[in-house]
Amino acid sequence: MDYKFRVQCPACKAFYRCKLEDYNSTELNPDGTIAIAIRPDTCHHFFMVYLDAKLNARTTQLITEAKVDISLIRSDPENLLQKEKDLNEKHQEALKRGDHAHVDELWQELKRVRKEITRVGLD
Ligand SMILES: [Zn+2]
Repeated sequence: MDYKFRVQCPACKAFYRCKLEDYNSTELNPDGTIAIAIRPDTCHHFFMVYLDAKLNARTTQLITEAKVDISLIRSDPENLLQKEKDLNEKHQEALKRGDHAHVDELWQELKRVRKEITRVGLD
């Protein structure tokens, strides 16, 4: 199968015919969509194209190339900070409801997650 799509450059509005080479369908998102960064040789603009499951270009977004100094703080494979945020929200809701059983349970879980965050140095 050929993986072809058409796209319009968001900067100069030129239309391009594109073909995915060495395309591996495992790179697709679960819903069949995919985001690809392209830079046509003709205009040299750099942009993202978001393709739906039928490889229709849904949106494009110009990418700014800025000089950025990046330093890793720490990887968070377990998504602990997101877990903390979610638990905090649930805890606040339980407090508002006066749901004491859940308030305690969530508080214990929140303490455990915060301890883990401190342990791995994400705080
Ligand atoms: Zn362009």
